[in-house]
Amino acid sequence: MSTPAVIWDPPTLPVRDGRSFPLRHVWCVGRNYADHAREMGIDPDRSPPVFFSKPAQAMIHADRVVYPPDTEELHHEVELVVFLDGGGRNLSAEAAEAVIFGYAVGIDLTRRDVQARAKKAGQPWEMSKGFDQSAPVGLVVPARDWRPDTDAAISLAVDDQMRQSARLGEMIWTVPELLAELSKTVTLNPGDAVFTGTPAGVAALRPGQRVRAHVAGLPPLALEIVSD
Ligand code: MN
Repeated sequence: MSTPAVIWDPPTLPVRDGRSFPLRHVWCVGRNYADHAREMGIDPDRSPPVFFSKPAQAMIHADRVVYPPDTEELHHEVELVVFLDGGGRNLSAEAAEAVIFGYAVGIDLTRRDVQARAKKAGQPWEMSKGFDQSAPVGLVVPARDWRPDTDAAISLAVDDQMRQSARLGEMIWTVPELLAELSKTVTLNPGDAVFTGTPAGVAALRPGQRVRAHVAGLPPLALEIVSD
């Protein structure tokens, strides 16, 4: 057996039952609520899901997030996040549902000014999405204990003021449908996490603000934006 050239441990997230979830890759969908697509200037009826990714090191479970460099417009996007304990290619929606390990509420933090400049210049907008601490998530709850319900509220408040508020049933693509679509393009694997899109109301955050993200039935994610 050969000696590995480097030794590292994957980033892990806490699961509510005391276990840890080792992260492999973080996938995201760019638009999955019609009202958010409209606020971004896109016709939701003619838009297939757009996928992108963040590095696993971007995902953290923490009560503070450092305001990132190179932006004056750090936007919040509250999202339901799905964690996989199986995978595959070209999964049916039924097969995709069977590889879901659990769920958490998360925030897809976005350097919106960086993204807007990149879009305008026809350049990749990876660095607007995949920076350090750009994917804070709450405790992971196993799927045996919680499943998304169309009536479940998803919301985000900043300093106790509601900014985003919707129901999971407003998703254009359901969670299994999203996973099935994504698996047409890439192989899904155990350890993958998938952000499932944000409703309308995305807006800028400043250092010192307290953010509370919530999906009904899941542990809330509460954090403060700090300057360093
Ligand atoms: Mn997002």
